[in-house]
Amino acid sequence: MEEIEPPLPTRLKLYNASNFFDRRAVPPEDLPRIAELARGFATVTVESHANMIGPLTLQFAALLSGRLEVAVGLETIHPVAITHLNKRLELPRFDSAAAFLAHHDIDLRAFVLLGAPYVPAAESIEWTVRTVEYAASRGARRVAIIPVRGGNGELERLEALGDFVPPTLAQLEHALERCRGIKSAVVTADLWDIDRLPACEGCRTQRVARIRAMNLCTGSRLPAPGSCPACA
Ligand SMILES: [Zn+2]
Repeated sequence: MEEIEPPLPTRLKLYNASNFFDRRAVPPEDLPRIAELARGFATVTVESHANMIGPLTLQFAALLSGRLEVAVGLETIHPVAITHLNKRLELPRFDSAAAFLAHHDIDLRAFVLLGAPYVPAAESIEWTVRTVEYAASRGARRVAIIPVRGGNGELERLEALGDFVPPTLAQLEHALERCRGIKSAVVTADLWDIDRLPACEGCRTQRVARIRAMNLCTGSRLPAPGSCPACA
């Protein structure tokens, strides 16, 4: 494996497109070597379903020289949407995983959706903010807001049925702005494929820049909202 030149970034993210603590995804016997390779990073982040957080999580945390952060998809707390989205992940399961991590001094990062199917579009921002607040209240130190993106066919099907409305760039900006009031967690917007989000072309660039600025600055200095004649 190639050595990375110092200074090392402080945070290492190990995303394996699955559950890190699923034994079929990451064999437990690999954990010591992974921890060894991660030496020197202050925090190591892995992704897991809430229901897979357990003894293996503690084992990996103990092997690391830095802190362990587990990223968990909370997605939404909207009562109707949650039953459709991920039947295996119910709120009590998220809660017990969060409590388990807190009890063992392991950090929790949460993923929250903007524009989850079955959440009425007019309430989209509100439910995203509520879900972020929920994650923070359960101890999440970092929360990433992820706008739901189509492209897999299923969302297009739901859209045709009226059960899904693609979230917009403006909604993402507003949701992130409203979350700045939450002091116990750092809240950021996921910028992956940001250019595909529906937006007014007159202010798209401006809004993306403001979201980027908010992602970087969590203090009280909020960049002023732009003024766009096209969507004022
Ligand atoms: Zn505009």
